Amino acid sequence: MSSVGEKRFGKLYKKRIWPSVCVLVFFAVACVATFAVFLYLFVMCIMGTKIVGHYEDAQQVSGILSALMDGGDTVEEAAAEMHDYILGDQDICVLDRDRKIVFLSGDSEPNFDIKLKFNVGRELTAVADSKNFLSANEGLRSIQAIPVREIMSRVLHPMEQGETRAQWMDAMVVRQDYWLKVPFGDNTYVLYVKCSLQAQRQDIVYVYLFGFGVMALLMIPVVLLFINTIRTALTQRKMSSLIYLDTVTGGRNWLYFQNYAHRILSRIRNNKKAFALVNLHLERYQNYRACYGVKAGDELLEAMSGFLSARVGKHESFARYEGADFGLLLRCEGENEQEYQENCRRRVRSLLAELTGLRPNQKIHFHAGIDLLPPYVDEEGKWYHRRQETDVEQIYTYANAARLESDGVEEQRITFFDHDMLGRQKWERWVEDNMERALQNGEFQVYLQPKYSPASGKLVGAEALVRWVSLSTGLITPSHFIPIFERTGFVTQLDDYMISRVAKLQAEWMIQGRKMIPISVNVSRAHFAQEGLAEHICELVDAYGPNHELIELEVTESAFFDDKEILVETVKQLKAYGFRVSMDDFGAGYSSLNSLKDIPLDVLKLDGEFFQGDEDGARRGEIVVREAIRLARDLDMCVVAEGIEKKEQVDFLARQGCDMIQGFYYARPMPVEDFEKKVEEDA
Ligand code: C2E
Ligand code: MG
Ligand code: MG
Repeated sequence: MSSVGEKRFGKLYKKRIWPSVCVLVFFAVACVATFAVFLYLFVMCIMGTKIVGHYEDAQQVSGILSALMDGGDTVEEAAAEMHDYILGDQDICVLDRDRKIVFLSGDSEPNFDIKLKFNVGRELTAVADSKNFLSANEGLRSIQAIPVREIMSRVLHPMEQGETRAQWMDAMVVRQDYWLKVPFGDNTYVLYVKCSLQAQRQDIVYVYLFGFGVMALLMIPVVLLFINTIRTALTQRKMSSLIYLDTVTGGRNWLYFQNYAHRILSRIRNNKKAFALVNLHLERYQNYRACYGVKAGDELLEAMSGFLSARVGKHESFARYEGADFGLLLRCEGENEQEYQENCRRRVRSLLAELTGLRPNQKIHFHAGIDLLPPYVDEEGKWYHRRQETDVEQIYTYANAARLESDGVEEQRITFFDHDMLGRQKWERWVEDNMERALQNGEFQVYLQPKYSPASGKLVGAEALVRWVSLSTGLITPSHFIPIFERTGFVTQLDDYMISRVAKLQAEWMIQGRKMIPISVNVSRAHFAQEGLAEHICELVDAYGPNHELIELEVTESAFFDDKEILVETVKQLKAYGFRVSMDDFGAGYSSLNSLKDIPLDVLKLDGEFFQGDEDGARRGEIVVREAIRLARDLDMCVVAEGIEKKEQVDFLARQGCDMIQGFYYARPMPVEDFEKKVEEDA
């Protein structure tokens, strides 16, 4: 995925429901607080009105007391008179200037330890009643002091028989006595008037109704917000399940895998653990779809996904990458690298074996590439740094590269990635990137390796071998790039180039009057699959005009296992044009004598391998060489032995009647100028 796309998905992934939940909680708390404040204010409003009424009554009492004292009564007399003749059963308490009680009526008294302050437009002071007060210690300052249950049971008490609804509503459900303080006589004396703050059933009902009303109003936005939060959460969940859905397997997709694998790998505590990123590949999947149908192909992938989800454990993950490629992140048990690898290999092997059994009647097989991630420590040996830079896609690419490198005949192949592999692949990339430019720049040079006649000891031929003289890398031998060229098909262009160069060289030698030496040129097997190759080579050579007989075309023996009909046809045509054709590397790899029977070749090039090995091997090789030379002679073929490095080999070949020898014993491949000098020296 592009980095922009990655960022966008990353944002989406990070967008969580928490902000909405926080807003909801905050709003709900704010509503409860508002509700409490409103309720408090409402209650205070009802209470305040009552307290103000009490205070006004108490003021009147203090006024009368002052008037009586002005009339000559002592404070005690005035209070007694007041109580006996005016107040009836309302209790008062009078304190003198020393704050000593000079008069007290009733069976309770003020509790001066509990002071109360009422702010009802003005500040009023009161004290608790010693008997009828909710809490002797706390007073009204603590909400817990209010016996809510008791009040509620009284409020909900059913109507008694004979009681009217108005009476029931007026019934008192809670009463609170307190003493209101009113200074009098120029603030010399203090009068405390016992008041009773009563709440009737209707007061409580009003408070409840008001409370419910406010609550209902405040709850509407809270409920709406709640619904919205839930909807957002559901939508997000649905969206993420869609974004992370693999539509083919119905499981999680690659994007999810990348995110999740990155999270697992970058967790600090996972640094101590080894992981393996596996590229699991179902071989010949397209062929499977073609034979059994697209639907069956998809079902197979779905079955694979179902199987893997049952086998992949906690803190592991998997997803389909594309086609029939799956990526797996597995934990590896063990103490050291070797154990990690062994355990991982065992586990992957058993996974592959089980996967193979998914379709009992159909042959399916898998290959796996693995990049092992050992426990992570930074350069200073500290493990607590996160694998922050972990690029899951990149690691997967390594696992994939490992799988592509795997070869062998095993049906289930498992290959571990190593950095040499990366080096090889980087090299291949470099070659592919530079080969065309190098051909245009003339970086490919013809080197010639002489062929000698063992009988005369004279230089009688040469093989043209390419060398890539790169401006940046220096001299590169064919084994480093020919296999890559063969894979990409570029080798045909190189072969054309070499044939042209050799033809040009022959033409120049002819013009310069030099000794004409036949030169063989390698033609890749890819070339031989092309139709009209003989005409094509003919055109290339004729562009410079040398004699066709001076040019020999070498075809590796392995090419003879390809389409034999085309090959035989091409060889016949080349021969008809006058070119010589040789079978290169006879004896290297698998040989088939049949090829010699079917194809009318001119030259047999015996591979150097015949002469290698231990003493016994070399002796047996000599027997084969002797017989091969005899066979070639009987078939009217000329024999060239290549890779000859020792005098004994030369002597042996000379005895056997080998026509030519090419090898380091005589000379290594050399630039054209050196070769020309050698020819002159040899003459
Ligand atoms: P080949 O055609 O069998 O060439 C012979 C190889 O054996 C050459 O390697 C040569 O340097 C090497 N050789 C010769 N004598 C000795 C010896 O005594 N000892 C040892 N150890 N090696 C010896 P080179 O040049 O590295 O080429 C390797 C292969 O690359 C060639 O094998 C040929 O298959 C391919 N090749 C080279 N040039 C071309 C080309 O222009 N076109 C194509 N298609 N393939 C080429
Ligand atoms: Mg050759
Ligand atoms: Mg060869």
